[in-house]
Amino acid sequence: MSSIPVPAYIREIAPYQAGKPIDELAREFGLDPDSIVKLASNENPLGMPESARQALLGAVGELERYPDSNGFALKGAIAGRYGVRPEQVTLGNGSNDLLELAVRAFVTPGDGVVYSEHAFAVYMLASQAVGARRIEVPARDLGHDLAAMAAAVDEGTRLVFIANPNNPTGSFVPGADVKALLEKVPEDVVVVLDQAYDEYLRPHERYDATAWLAQHPNLIICRTFSKAYGLAGLRLGFALASAELTDFMNRVRQPFNTNSLAQAAALAALADEAFLARSYELNLAQRERLEQAFADRGLRYVPSSANFVMVEVGDGAAVSQALLHEAVIVRPIGGYGLPAWVRVSVGLPEENTRFLEALDKVLAARS
Ligand SMILES: *Cc1c(COP(=O)(O)O)cnc(C)c1O
Repeated sequence: MSSIPVPAYIREIAPYQAGKPIDELAREFGLDPDSIVKLASNENPLGMPESARQALLGAVGELERYPDSNGFALKGAIAGRYGVRPEQVTLGNGSNDLLELAVRAFVTPGDGVVYSEHAFAVYMLASQAVGARRIEVPARDLGHDLAAMAAAVDEGTRLVFIANPNNPTGSFVPGADVKALLEKVPEDVVVVLDQAYDEYLRPHERYDATAWLAQHPNLIICRTFSKAYGLAGLRLGFALASAELTDFMNRVRQPFNTNSLAQAAALAALADEAFLARSYELNLAQRERLEQAFADRGLRYVPSSANFVMVEVGDGAAVSQALLHEAVIVRPIGGYGLPAWVRVSVGLPEENTRFLEALDKVLAARS
């Protein structure tokens, strides 16, 4: 080991476990990449919108130039869509970037950060990276216990993370409960509401968090183009918040944290309501199909409000590994404290068929 004095909180970070890339599995098992079904990273099975592809190709001619550091066109479009001012929009290299910017701007070493057990791993990683005191609140029925999270906010707490829906559980808490937490948490504590899967909510689940921004200047809403908009590889997310918090987030970001191709493609995708509607419909129908299939097999699952389902299979790591031999990639989630479960993204109908057939084979061999 070197003599570089790496802070203890950095040494303790367990690296993020990403979904296995298709090419990696193809190399390791000598498989044809086209035969592999990847349902491990909650990507959009429809691919990227054609409108975004055209916009991206149109922007290729100017790659020698730096991107617009202020993302004028995209911020304007986002502001228009969500009824906020452009000064309330922060762009990020994926919404992952925004989660980190929020921690970097508002949390110093030793400050408390509250999040739920089984919550999205980046909350822990981003908190650890700045030496924050992590306050992990036990889950209730595998979902967020918002009352307990509000109660866990103490003197030294500076930030609360809420994922709604949450990843990897797919669990959802009603908007009214999130609002109730905002009412309880002191105004000088930042609340980050991560809505990465908001576009997949059913009509009865939808709620308008942007309407709360005026009353709650401590609220930061994070959204992404990676899931329903089909642009995960481009890395584009955005945050909506008060102009004051937005200003601070922008002070700590890289000047060019979002690239010009991503800005152009996201602008087109945002306007593509037909693509969004197709993504929603496909996901809803196929998610119901997966949940029904799990129920038919007597497998416990968490009813999902997102584009994936978490299902209990006994030994999640072993089942995931066996599925790889069937050329199906799902996500083991032992690292989230859920070793008996796997998370499977909702795919195209034929992909889900392949997954269910492979699952049946694997589970039969194990029983
Ligand atoms: C996928 C995901 C994100 C962000 O992804 P980006 O690609 O960085 O925008 C954020 N939060 C949750 C809960 C997610 O599942």
